[in-house]
Amino acid sequence: MDLIFLGPPGAGKGTQARWIIEEFKTPQISTGDIIRAAIRDHSPLGKEFKSYTDAGKLVPDDLVNRMVEDRLAQPDCKGGFLLDGFPRTVVQAKALDKMLEKAGRSLDHVLLLEVDDAVLVERITGRRSDPETGNVYHIKFNPPPADIADRLIQRSDDTEEVLRQRLDEYHAKTSPLIPFYEEKGLLRRIKGVGTPENIRDLIFGVLKG
Ligand code: AMP
Repeated sequence: MDLIFLGPPGAGKGTQARWIIEEFKTPQISTGDIIRAAIRDHSPLGKEFKSYTDAGKLVPDDLVNRMVEDRLAQPDCKGGFLLDGFPRTVVQAKALDKMLEKAGRSLDHVLLLEVDDAVLVERITGRRSDPETGNVYHIKFNPPPADIADRLIQRSDDTEEVLRQRLDEYHAKTSPLIPFYEEKGLLRRIKGVGTPENIRDLIFGVLKG
């Protein structure tokens, strides 16, 4: 299955993606993760990326498009993929259409996780991740075990100030993708509130339905 995961920062895409890739055996392609890996490597491109992510701004379309095109050409994407955090602009969505057309494939579903901004602020500012396992916790809603609490880190763009900018980017540049995919009959709306397990069941219902 060729899937896109759409939704604002903090909607729960990363958490849900882990379940989807396990169930459907497709790779998760998170442009945010690829960008953070380049930043950690201190590559010249990583330095450029950091100036955007630290400001809560989107990285320029052509850089991200090339990154995704390379990744989709890898053999593990042959049977399907879950794009998480891409596309984020209509320019990216149109570039993706071209990439898929060239490869003779097309999208099956665009999952939209819907969550109000006020909820997102609380979720994101309390988010912490474990650099050793990649597991993500929340200091209030999903507290980490005490023995690993000291090694958890907060993403540098998960502060309230940067989040506000990321949400502005989402509403201005990413939300136009909602009518874009609605018109193509691909959009599947999912309420992103409730327990993670409830939301997972709603998503599986759509994907298996
Ligand atoms: P995320 O982990 O998806 O929240 O992404 C973190 C940051 O990486 C974003 O705030 C952007 O600066 C950058 N980023 C990730 N994906 C994209 C994309 N598709 N287009 C532009 N910038 C992106």
